[in-house]
Amino acid sequence: MSGDRKRGDYVLQDWVDRWTQQQIGFHKGRPNEMLVKHLDKMLNDRSEIKILLPLCGKAMDIKWLYDQGHTVVGVECAEQALQEFFQENNVEYLVEKVDKIEGKLYKSLDGRVRLYCCDFFKFTDDVETDFQGVYDRGALVAINETDRERYAVLMTSLLGSDCCYLLQAYDYDPLKYQGPPHYLSEMDIHKLFEAKCRIKQLDVRDALSENLRNEWGLDKFDEKVFLIQPK
Ligand code: SAH
Repeated sequence: MSGDRKRGDYVLQDWVDRWTQQQIGFHKGRPNEMLVKHLDKMLNDRSEIKILLPLCGKAMDIKWLYDQGHTVVGVECAEQALQEFFQENNVEYLVEKVDKIEGKLYKSLDGRVRLYCCDFFKFTDDVETDFQGVYDRGALVAINETDRERYAVLMTSLLGSDCCYLLQAYDYDPLKYQGPPHYLSEMDIHKLFEAKCRIKQLDVRDALSENLRNEWGLDKFDEKVFLIQPK
């Protein structure tokens, strides 16, 4: 463990271990309700667009977007998650080596689902770029705070000029719980993206559950959704 690693900070192996031990409380057995509610803002009257899901896990969002004709590109470090995605959703797939990055590509036979098994920080705009949509749930809030700036720089390089990027963030007392998901404020989001993007808050909802009260000791847990678009 490095000297400056804080409580709540993870290294990649911690995530891989969570998948092996099936400690995946973040995984929902249905498409995320905020995505369903705000998909129209991402689409902006377009159909069959190319959407990035960073740190995608085996989210049902992948299949839900794919079923609507979109091309879905995900990046996930735990190979188990990608195998489970294809098996559980009965999508036929193949696995390829990727020359430009250290990692593998899991892709559906029709090529419209492409899930890269690699560290997101090793992903580059040589592999895939010009995304028209991004759905960021459990991604920017999952990484360590010290990695946020390089995440924003990389993410910005992947956005097409017409991209509509939906970002989900959480507002809670970080002294009570250290994450992940980490606390991410509106001011943090502005600091990370405002040089190159416009930022608008679309939604906020009280997402405090008995579980979060008891297990994380929280008395507030707001889920917020932001729309980020290149200037
Ligand atoms: N977006 C998904 C998963 C959220 S949990 C959902 O909504 O269900 C965060 C996921 O990111 C985990 O599956 C973890 O294995 C993966 N992950 C964490 N750090 C990563 C990194 N640096 N590169 C790629 N994947 C990463």
